[in-house]
Amino acid sequence: MNENRAGDHFRVVVIGAGFGGVGTAIKLKQSGIEDFAVLERDSGIGGTWWANTYPGCQCDIPSHLYSFSFAPNPSWTRTYAPQAEIQRYIADVAEREGIVPHIRFGCELQGAEWDEDAGLWRLATSTGAVTAELVVAAPGPLAEPSVPAIPGLDSFAGDVFHTARWNHDIDLAGRRVAVVGTGASAIQAVPRIQPQVDRLTLFQRTPPWVMPHGERPITAAERFLYRRVPALQRLVRSGVYWSREALVPALVHRPGLTKVIERIARRHLAAQVADPVLRERLTPDYTIGCKRILPSNDWYPAITQPNVDIVFGGLEEVRPDGVVGPDGTLRPADAIVFATGFHVTDMPLAKLVRGRDGSTLHELWHGTPQAYRGAAMAGFPNMFWLVGPNTGLGHNSIVFMIESQLAYVMDALRTMEAVGANRIEVRPEAQAAYNERLQARMPGTVWNSGGCASWYIDENGANSTIWPDFTWRFRQETRRFDPASYTLASTPRPAAAEPALAPAG
Ligand code: NAP
Repeated sequence: MNENRAGDHFRVVVIGAGFGGVGTAIKLKQSGIEDFAVLERDSGIGGTWWANTYPGCQCDIPSHLYSFSFAPNPSWTRTYAPQAEIQRYIADVAEREGIVPHIRFGCELQGAEWDEDAGLWRLATSTGAVTAELVVAAPGPLAEPSVPAIPGLDSFAGDVFHTARWNHDIDLAGRRVAVVGTGASAIQAVPRIQPQVDRLTLFQRTPPWVMPHGERPITAAERFLYRRVPALQRLVRSGVYWSREALVPALVHRPGLTKVIERIARRHLAAQVADPVLRERLTPDYTIGCKRILPSNDWYPAITQPNVDIVFGGLEEVRPDGVVGPDGTLRPADAIVFATGFHVTDMPLAKLVRGRDGSTLHELWHGTPQAYRGAAMAGFPNMFWLVGPNTGLGHNSIVFMIESQLAYVMDALRTMEAVGANRIEVRPEAQAAYNERLQARMPGTVWNSGGCASWYIDENGANSTIWPDFTWRFRQETRRFDPASYTLASTPRPAAAEPALAPAG
């Protein structure tokens, strides 16, 4: 199909070498497409599982489910895999499937523009220009660390870093460390660093709901069995999947039903925190599930140690020698660790991608990311996103959603080839109707009505992050590409790709 074979032009360019990008590359290869490149800004494979190396980093979705269905891993060592193991898994799969030669490491996207006349994407990257007939963007929603603009932060004399960019050159042992945030990252990192540090000042703005963790090592005998009887691992995977899906009716339709789960979390807190006053301050005032439910057996024991000082409120100010909370007290600190999450609904990449009329995604979205089936955007021809708007999950494995979208994208490519089209764009009315339907489901969900402020909700108050249904419904909806929702066209193409645009400022 592709006439242009210059080194900087590809039939497909994939952005990112995490689960989404590696999965895309595998499916492209399996369907006989070799003319593709994967652009990866980091120096290794894994995306968020490459970047997040903070102590204790581990997936809170069970290992058997948190993997590609087509590449089971009978060798997981724990029921919830540690980061290094997941990163190695993705890298191993990529290696095995022959993806690695297609990856351009250290290649960061700096701009992307659709050229309507040439019928291709012009990409500016940190290592030069690239053109592509089609782009699959798999940057991941949890890619850009968010550090709040705290007055005085620049004046701090000590070390500062984000959990997603852990600075392993800095030894926290024996130092006074402030940790900001009590989300999924903090809850894993704090119990690991608390025993080493001299003092730990923890800023808790909103307490999380914490559940007992059923985590344990997978025995050698189990691993042997999984290797010998792959169907057994598939059975376990399926059990995990359906037990997770069983949460959906409560999360989506009847948040009141989550009271049962809440009771378990309250008992967990009561069993681990004896002081009733402290317990009260660690008890969330919103419906469980509104923010991610966090599993941990060592969070409460860690934060109740004598060397931990919990500040009940946000970090308000930083001074050269310490941190200040709402009570105005200066707490001396040698290092500040931000466990403050990511730019999700305001992802910087949206400012770099320009569509048919020259507007960026960011400009078109006006603060509320929107797509069709979380993958296609009107005005952005020949581009698909993985884990785009409203494909996020609080309860189940994102790899399941990625595989659903991969089936959809690959069917779209097959359809293009079958009808001889080289241009594809979702119809704005199909996108609008899809989002109307999605948003109509939101008001009664726990994410919208549970009484919390979470990163699922964007600056306009819309839930543009979460898929508000069973994940198998998403699988059904993405099983087949639906050409009626798209315009498919065959347009004459110039013979050779022109130089790409200059890097965006
Ligand atoms: P997060 O859930 O967004 O939590 C950020 C934390 O920082 C919140 O506690 C927030 O408080 C706090 N915060 C923000 N600004 C603050 C300020 N100025 N002062 C005090 N506190 C402040 O981020 P995350 O923990 O990195 O997790 C993000 C997502 O990544 C998770 O929801 C999950 O999807 C994923 N993740 C998964 C795993 C896993 O699988 N185990 C691990 C890590 C992350 P408020 O609550 O008051 O806003």
